[in-house]
Amino acid sequence: MKNRLGIIGGGQLGMMITEAAQNLTDEISEITVLDPTENCSAAQIGAKQIVGDFKDELAILKLAEQSDIITYEIESGNTDVLSKLKAKIEPSPSTLGIIQDKLSQKTFLSENELPVSEFYEITSLDDLREKINELGLPVLLKSRRDAYDGRGNFKITSADEIEKAYQQFDGKSLMVEKFVNFKMEVSVIAARNTKGEIATYPLVENIHENNILKITIAPARVSENIIRNAGEIAKKTMQVLNGAGVFGIEMFVDQDDKILINEIAPRVHNSGHHTLQSCKTSQFEQHLRAILGLKLGSTELVHKTVMCNILGPDGFEGKYKPVELEKDGVYLKMYGKDISKPQRKIGHFNIVDLSDTKDVSELLQMADEIKNIVTVSPL
Ligand code: AMP
Repeated sequence: MKNRLGIIGGGQLGMMITEAAQNLTDEISEITVLDPTENCSAAQIGAKQIVGDFKDELAILKLAEQSDIITYEIESGNTDVLSKLKAKIEPSPSTLGIIQDKLSQKTFLSENELPVSEFYEITSLDDLREKINELGLPVLLKSRRDAYDGRGNFKITSADEIEKAYQQFDGKSLMVEKFVNFKMEVSVIAARNTKGEIATYPLVENIHENNILKITIAPARVSENIIRNAGEIAKKTMQVLNGAGVFGIEMFVDQDDKILINEIAPRVHNSGHHTLQSCKTSQFEQHLRAILGLKLGSTELVHKTVMCNILGPDGFEGKYKPVELEKDGVYLKMYGKDISKPQRKIGHFNIVDLSDTKDVSELLQMADEIKNIVTVSPL
């Protein structure tokens, strides 16, 4: 029997899941997304849309009526409502619940002996001072919920910043974490299907600017040892997490080459966009295979690839000129968003070493040149 797929969130991730679903014609009959923006990215390429907030109970119930299986592209779904639904939800609301709260996520990981930076819950300003005495500076004070792209983080480097940092969060529930002086940020895209089969993609290297992912390099330029360790940590994470779907596991490589997990995203991940061209199975198809209980596809990286995000420029909000590019081995993906906003993800491009003759530094140089061509500018 074919499934009607529901997706909470119809931005670029929902759009690329929709595209993959449209190719799985034997498995999926129709696709509906729930998204607050009218004519969202996924709707533009043919998904049906319910216009509503991701946490709106009535809108979620409506989505459930129209779906046999629900998944999501954002982690801020309403787990209370989701756990009451009759439709199948993958990854499960209980897995989502663990991940949604950074403190419960870190507690879960450390209880399962997975490596994370030292952390504590914070309940008051005095408590924060006390925990900083134990951890030493610098630390990151983090909002436990609804924070992404570093927006809920405050780096405290000196004692006189403690009070200001604490006040900034305005009563939100908080945690504090020892700052990792990392050599590199890396990630593993991992999948687990409903039958427990696990597959991991090769380790990639991520370069952030202002906490937002700018560039992913596949594969990461690290030793075999690091690749092996990160792969094992990713597999173990998937074994203990118990949810079905694709997960983005973000990690740090510290100065001693130790791997620490920073964060898990219970969904397809920006650092997996390279798989659209570089790997035998894209992360989007893999996600669907995982939640539908199909055999997982090959995660082999066929070509070295550099992925670059195209972000809305600072100081401009509004409609923008079409962004176009035609160049062999370069795959531009625009997300169809009407409006650009500062630092908003508008599209990405993958530079793929189709001839398998280039090294990463050449691909990075090409990326630099292309970045100057595919800029977002007012219409
Ligand atoms: P997050 O939203 O918590 O994933 O953090 C966004 C970015 O902040 C990460 O990609 C890192 O660059 C940085 N970051 C988060 N936690 C730490 C940490 N404990 N030490 C150093 N940098 C961190």
